[in-house]
Amino acid sequence: MGLSFLRRQISMNPFPDSANRVWVSAAALKSNYRLMRSVLPPATPLLAMVKADAYGHGMVAAAGAFAEAGCRHFGVAELPEAVRLREYLYAAGIDAEILVMAGLLPGQEEYFPRYGLSAAVFSLDSARLLSAAGAAAGRRVLVHIKVDCGMTRLGIMPEETLAFTEAIEQLSGIELAGIFAHFPEADSPEKPSNRQVRDNFAVASAAFTTVLSAAKGLPPRHHLANSAGILNQRMAHFDMARSGIALYGYAPDGIPAHAVAGGEALQPAMRFVSRVLQVKDVAAGCGVSYGHTFVTARPSRLAVLPVGYEDGYQRALSNKASVLIHGRRAPIVGRICMNLCLADVTEIAAVATGDEVVLLGCQGDECVSADELAALAGTISYELLCMIGNNNQREMVA
Ligand SMILES: *Cc1c(COP(=O)(O)O)cnc(C)c1O
Repeated sequence: MGLSFLRRQISMNPFPDSANRVWVSAAALKSNYRLMRSVLPPATPLLAMVKADAYGHGMVAAAGAFAEAGCRHFGVAELPEAVRLREYLYAAGIDAEILVMAGLLPGQEEYFPRYGLSAAVFSLDSARLLSAAGAAAGRRVLVHIKVDCGMTRLGIMPEETLAFTEAIEQLSGIELAGIFAHFPEADSPEKPSNRQVRDNFAVASAAFTTVLSAAKGLPPRHHLANSAGILNQRMAHFDMARSGIALYGYAPDGIPAHAVAGGEALQPAMRFVSRVLQVKDVAAGCGVSYGHTFVTARPSRLAVLPVGYEDGYQRALSNKASVLIHGRRAPIVGRICMNLCLADVTEIAAVATGDEVVLLGCQGDECVSADELAALAGTISYELLCMIGNNNQREMVA
């Protein structure tokens, strides 16, 4: 096989697809956005959190769907995500705010005025860097002050708000566009921290407003609520809110009955689908996969699937999860390997190589939810969606 033959093949043939595919429903994302928006007062914008590649759903495609549903504020964790999102939104002709929740590290400041990005700020040093970069570019960088109101993570302390806001107000090349904080336990509405965080934020937010009352420009946004705050804490809506998990169709507390907004069910947007690689019949007493952690109790028919922990199908799901084949549940048996796992299809007729297997999502009347898999793996839907979504070929469907 000569090199010239290979060169011809490489240029002629489309790149082959993996058997494993994540399908994301744009209709579900748009419906979830509209439902979460409907819970808020009419003038309160809903910022869509699209960090972590939109919780595994694909940042660019998900942001496009949210924008179609009316979204004009997006949140990402880090600068590179913001730059990629800005390039996409610009090309699509969509004018929207992109808030970088982690703010910046020294050396990144010039990107903010260049790409029209908003920054979370929680130190005067980074505000000064943005100020210099904004002034040099002849633009004003929008900043949102991050206050630590009880999460004990990123942010200034509430009692620092007045002095911090005053110091930032003096800087050129920068504009105070908002103030925000984050709930640690909004998914448990009965916890006392919810009221404390909300009260701390109200104090910080009032201090911010005293400095800004004479200000010009955009009305600054005060925002506290995440998905759980939007759904459970009406007192925490202020004048913007940030939603992540609910936009992807899941309840923040992992209880499917709570995945409801405005009286309607949120819809899980992600499906994870593969195909049967081999079907094999084995005798009773046969040890299956690494460590023989499963031993067949009867003559069994097993389907070998080309899915493993490399694909985000966590090893912790070994001997616990089920997949859907022909609309029926088939238990995963034995250890999940790096690239392979096995399902017991003894009770499902006529399973054959190439048949569709659903690992997350619905097939016929049966569904496997991210909450179900997360509970089995000892984690939360958020992590499970990121791992499956970000480790597989993804496609958006209408
Ligand atoms: C991720 C994140 C959110 C969204 O939280 P959900 O529980 O997914 O709605 C909101 N605010 C901040 C600061 C975040 O980091």
